[in-house]
Amino acid sequence: MKETAISIENLHVSYYGNEAVTGVSLSVNCGNLVGIIGPNGAGKSTFLKAMLNLIPKDKGEVKVLGRSIKEVRKKIAYVPQRNDIDWDFPITVLDAVLLGTYPHMKLFRRPKKKDKQWALECLGRVGMEEFSKRQIGELSGGQQQRVFLARALAQKAELFFLDEPFVGVDVSSEETIVNILKELCQQGKTVIVVHHDLSKANDYFDQLILLNKELISFGAVEEVFKTDVIEKAYKGQFAIMKKMGVTV
Ligand code: ADP
Ligand code: MG
Repeated sequence: MKETAISIENLHVSYYGNEAVTGVSLSVNCGNLVGIIGPNGAGKSTFLKAMLNLIPKDKGEVKVLGRSIKEVRKKIAYVPQRNDIDWDFPITVLDAVLLGTYPHMKLFRRPKKKDKQWALECLGRVGMEEFSKRQIGELSGGQQQRVFLARALAQKAELFFLDEPFVGVDVSSEETIVNILKELCQQGKTVIVVHHDLSKANDYFDQLILLNKELISFGAVEEVFKTDVIEKAYKGQFAIMKKMGVTV
């Protein structure tokens, strides 16, 4: 049997007394590429952040690889939603990726030549090696997202969490990113991606978490990606569903 990557039990999160995520329980096995889908404001980002202990939860238990988040922090890479990142922060592409190697560095140790080589190798994997000296603010959306994936790779994580990595990203960057994510899963790593584009959900993921404050459905893509199931989350938003390629 495959090892459990993440198990979530009765997760509740609220902002100022308003519940954003209520009573979600599920577990994901290692090696899966999982999409979190649901309408705008459904609590997808909140769910991801609460899972990673980045925001407080009201209730619930989350285990990663059978342990608490705190114990496995180094094995987790998180790429936030683009608008949660300060793109004016003065940092070069190489330094941004080197940050990914910090969890493995002893405190106060400066990056060595071999860290830089590893960071460049990770940049190479996402096709961004030649941009290593650029400031991150000077990149296109797709290039920025590639760099953040390189940083996650540099971290040598076991679990990857990405929030809307394809928003504002060109087609070829999206393809590069998806292929790398699929490769990671083939190597037994677990990848969780918040994604709002229903038309691609079919091709990209093994499993889907369909969320609208509560868990509407979770399982293999074939189980979740059905009109009647999707409809429950997108209540009456037929125009959106149609535009996104779901037949209604
Ligand atoms: P999604 O990622 O699915 O679009 P979010 O998790 O960002 O949804 O938001 C879920 C709900 O929580 C929304 O109603 C949103 O307005 C609210 N929310 C999100 N972040 C905050 C916050 N920092 N303070 C107050 N309310 C928030
Ligand atoms: Mg979001």
